[in-house]
Amino acid sequence: MVSQSRFAIIVAGGSGIRMGTEIPKQFLLINNLPVLMHTINKFNDSNAKIILVLPIQHFDYWNNLCTTYQFTVPHTLVAGGKERYESVNNGLKQITQEGVVAIHDGVRPCVSTELIERCFNEAEQYNNAVAAVKPKDSIRMKQPEGSISVNRDDYYLVQTPQVFQLNLLKNAYDRLSGSHFTDDASVFESAGYQIHLTTGDYKNIKITTPDDLILASAFMNEK
Ligand code: C5P
Repeated sequence: MVSQSRFAIIVAGGSGIRMGTEIPKQFLLINNLPVLMHTINKFNDSNAKIILVLPIQHFDYWNNLCTTYQFTVPHTLVAGGKERYESVNNGLKQITQEGVVAIHDGVRPCVSTELIERCFNEAEQYNNAVAAVKPKDSIRMKQPEGSISVNRDDYYLVQTPQVFQLNLLKNAYDRLSGSHFTDDASVFESAGYQIHLTTGDYKNIKITTPDDLILASAFMNEK
C-alpha cells in the first residue's frame, strides 16, 4: 500500500507559565539543543511536512535560535491562537493537500520515532490514532466536598501524537462549537467520529514543570 502524504503540526503557541521561567519552555535547552528542535527532528525522521505554530511575538526569537543552532529542517511557521485548539486550526489552514496529519505538543521532545510511525500507520487504517497510556497512580474524583475513589482501569491518560485523516479533522474543526477542548481527539469526537487509541509511551512526557527537564534529559541520554 502506498502511504499517504504526511504532515505534522507541532503546537508551541502557549505561554508556558507553569514552568516559571522567563524563556518559554519550548525554547529551553535539553542536552544543549532547544526542546522544540528535538521534537521537530523526530517528525522530520518520519518524512512529515512540518508546520510549527508559535506565538507571533516569538517568531524572531525562534528564527535567531535556528541561526544559532544551524537548524535547517524545513518547516512553515504559523501564528498561534489564544487557545490550543485555535493554534491547531491555524496550522490546519496551511495544509491544502490530502493526507494524514499528526498533531503534537512541541513540548513532548521524548516522543519516539516508533510511536510516530505507528500513529501514522494506524491513522491510515482507522482514520485516526491517538496515543494514550494507562494511569499508574490511583485516581480520586473531586466532589463538591472532598473526593471519592474511582477505578483507574476505567481511564486513559491521553498524549500526543494524535494523527487524523486530514479531511475528517478539518471537517471537525469546521463544525467546532465551544471552547473546552484540550486536545484534538476531543474535537474529532465532537464531530461524531470514533477515537482509535494506540499504546503511548510513559517516556513521552509533556514538559510542564522544571522537574520534567531533568527527566527528559535522562530519557534522551539513555540511548
Ligand atoms: O497548555 P498545555 O500544556 O495543554 O499545552 C500543550 C501544547 O499546546 C503546548 O505545546 C502549548 O505550547 C500548545 N498550545 C498552543 N496554543 C495555545 C496553548 C497551548 O499551541 N494557545
